[in-house]
Amino acid sequence: MNIKIKRFNKQNHENQSTSIFSVSKTNLLQALNEIKSISDASLTFRCGCKSGVCGSCAVRVNGIEVLACKTIINENDLIEPLKNRTVIKDLVVDVSHETFLIKKSKAYLDTNSELEISQNDTKLIDIQSNCILCNACYSSCPVYEVNKEFLGPFALTRALRYINDKKVLNNSSIIDSIQDKGIWDCTLCSACTFVCPQGIDPKADILQLQNISVQKGYENPNFSNFDSGMDFGMQDMGFDPNAGF
Ligand code: SF4
Ligand code: SF4
Repeated sequence: MNIKIKRFNKQNHENQSTSIFSVSKTNLLQALNEIKSISDASLTFRCGCKSGVCGSCAVRVNGIEVLACKTIINENDLIEPLKNRTVIKDLVVDVSHETFLIKKSKAYLDTNSELEISQNDTKLIDIQSNCILCNACYSSCPVYEVNKEFLGPFALTRALRYINDKKVLNNSSIIDSIQDKGIWDCTLCSACTFVCPQGIDPKADILQLQNISVQKGYENPNFSNFDSGMDFGMQDMGFDPNAGF
């Protein structure tokens, strides 16, 4: 079986190219290892646990984000690095921006409460805690594609995880930090949910964060702009919608 792999080397300023390799393995990660050991030792990719736990082998197959270790390939598949990150070499991208996003969303434990945590408390944060930081969601996100300051799917999913964490005594700084370039910029397109290998639903988490924010007195800035700028032409028709009856 032949597969195509996008190639690039930032250090040598090589132009992007596509190599075709013949492989016998049908598991993508095994096929990449086969190429590296038999055909081309310079092929560069990341991998760690080889069992879908570490998230380091995320790539795109025919444009869809997947974990290489959990993916079966077919004839002529095109393997590319994740989108929306700087490519360092071949299938390896720079993921250092994730630390910045997590810091910006304040999605981490900075207060250790002495509270007893029940099983029900841990269930509240169970799903979001399963994030393996694979970056697939950022690669798929159309908002992040055009705005690298957007907090994006996993930082927001993580924000919900810590907002719901009983050990965080005061979650208001997290809620405050996700308003600007955060929850209100998401188009709720579900692309991130579709590609998440852990079954996390960042779109649903962002909706929950919007609800929590409204309950805390925050407003959707898109709605306030909409309200102030639009009177549906009623005032032009001599009708003041704020006048009461
Ligand atoms: S639902 Fe929101 S965060 Fe997820 S991919 Fe779409 S725009 Fe990005
Ligand atoms: S939310 Fe899902 S897709 Fe995004 S980094 Fe975490 S595990 Fe990967």
